[in-house]
Amino acid sequence: MEYSLKIKGQAALVTGANSGIGEAVAIALGEQGANVVVNYVTHPELAQQVVDKIKSTGGNAIAIKADVSNEAEVQAMFQQMFAEYGTIDILVNNAGLQKDSPIENMSLADWQLVINVNLTGQFLCAREAIREFLRRGVVAERSCAAGKIICMSSVHQVIPWAGHVNYAASKGGIEMMMKSMAQELAPKKIRINSIGPGAIQTPINQSAWGDPDSLKKLLTLIPYGRIGQPEDIGKVAVWLASDQSDYLTGTTLFVDGGMLLYPGFSTNG
Ligand code: NAD
Repeated sequence: MEYSLKIKGQAALVTGANSGIGEAVAIALGEQGANVVVNYVTHPELAQQVVDKIKSTGGNAIAIKADVSNEAEVQAMFQQMFAEYGTIDILVNNAGLQKDSPIENMSLADWQLVINVNLTGQFLCAREAIREFLRRGVVAERSCAAGKIICMSSVHQVIPWAGHVNYAASKGGIEMMMKSMAQELAPKKIRINSIGPGAIQTPINQSAWGDPDSLKKLLTLIPYGRIGQPEDIGKVAVWLASDQSDYLTGTTLFVDGGMLLYPGFSTNG
């Protein structure tokens, strides 16, 4: 049986792609021959490094600045992408942030920032991608599907997280947004799924792995015994964007080294 990812030539947009998981996903898609948009909001030099890395492996990439929570900037980013690559086949809704504090101290501004970027940002980008998927429809030489969206969620769409109420709420929201869009658009051959990472070693959670004591504590939550790497997510995202996963829609794939297996119960049930 031929096993081809058939990503080559497809146009992919990865939000928040100048750091961590988004960077690894953009590079993994580029390695498969996708035309990649590396979205960023700050640090253009880091976005350029990702573009250069993709080009050095023979891929094709451009960097586009946009704040995913800003409707006009998102629309301008999609227009720039269409001018460059003609269309979009794959959207990876990855951009996200944390603003942690005990609930009694959480400001409305910090609540809104996290919801605006993590949830509304995914809605705004998904809507633009879906408009183009619906306009273009299925092009058999490109993909079985009219388009694929991957929403970066988290194990915290399932696991409550004290001190991170805004973040956990944003990820819980992504689950129902993703499933409802998937239900609405499956008849149009648009596939929408999420990835739920566990603990992945990136700048967002440096406090959890940056010193030996914190890392040791973190590892008690991970049955597989290691912290995840951004590439662990990149590989899954490529598969989820490919026709190899053509019958998947409305699903969250947890990539977490078993974090959702409730390891605290392994000796204390
Ligand atoms: P990161 O901080 O390395 O990357 C986040 C990216 O989002 C950065 O490029 C940042 O500039 C970008 N971003 C932030 N606000 C933006 C905005 N308004 N517009 C555009 N881009 C913006 O962190 P990461 O770990 O790579 O996180 C990527 C995604 O993975 C996030 O959605 C995060 O919630 C999710 N996630 C991460 C982990 C983990 O353990 N690292 C676990 C579960 C889920």
